[in-house]
Amino acid sequence: MNFEFKLVSRLAPVAKYPPVPVDRILRGLKRFRKKVYPKHRELFHKLALQQRPQALFITCADSRIDPCLLTQTKPGELFLCRVIGNIVPRYPESIGGVSATIEYAVGVLGVPDVIVCGHTDCGVMKGVLNPEALKPLANVSAWLNHAQPAREALVKPDSNLSDPEFLLALTERNVIEQLKNLQTHPAVAARLEQGNLKLHGWVYDIGRGIVTTYSPRRQKFIRVRTVKPRKIVGGRR
Ligand SMILES: [Zn+2]
Repeated sequence: MNFEFKLVSRLAPVAKYPPVPVDRILRGLKRFRKKVYPKHRELFHKLALQQRPQALFITCADSRIDPCLLTQTKPGELFLCRVIGNIVPRYPESIGGVSATIEYAVGVLGVPDVIVCGHTDCGVMKGVLNPEALKPLANVSAWLNHAQPAREALVKPDSNLSDPEFLLALTERNVIEQLKNLQTHPAVAARLEQGNLKLHGWVYDIGRGIVTTYSPRRQKFIRVRTVKPRKIVGGRR
């Protein structure tokens, strides 16, 4: 596997970045104020006073994932938890930002659904396969330990699995493990007991724009099926 090389090259100095990228970000902010905000003023006024998100969306911090673009949701509809590797440490092993976000979303905001979304080409998953390459990064290395059970749960790669296939298998397994970890959090366990919380495991294929979801019944990831709007037979048009 050549993951180690790729990881090391990604840790190279910042020289590769385009000059003064913040200017573009500031121009975007100006455009938002002038064009976008006035169009949605009513929504933002409403959101200024309260939020009722429909789901807690836990995904990797990877810049290529835009949860609202992917799910076509508006501000106020997703409560986001961005963390590298979309890792949810088991409770109470690592109490911190992730566990507090889960507790608030599930226990206070009462979201009805939690989605854990992994993705293809995840650098963190590559790091799990080659921890040596990340040794200089003490915090990242420690964090990746939470993904080791996924690595251990995978059968050793046999000759039938190519490197990308094995990486995808690890990415999927990691999502399943994080769903298990979620259930160790008291707020999640309580809501599951009440029967008013659903957990979902997704993997987003960045290049193909496809999302697969974990089916516990079939014990594999399958393409997301969306509900088609009903046809009105003989109805008025
Ligand atoms: Zn990632």
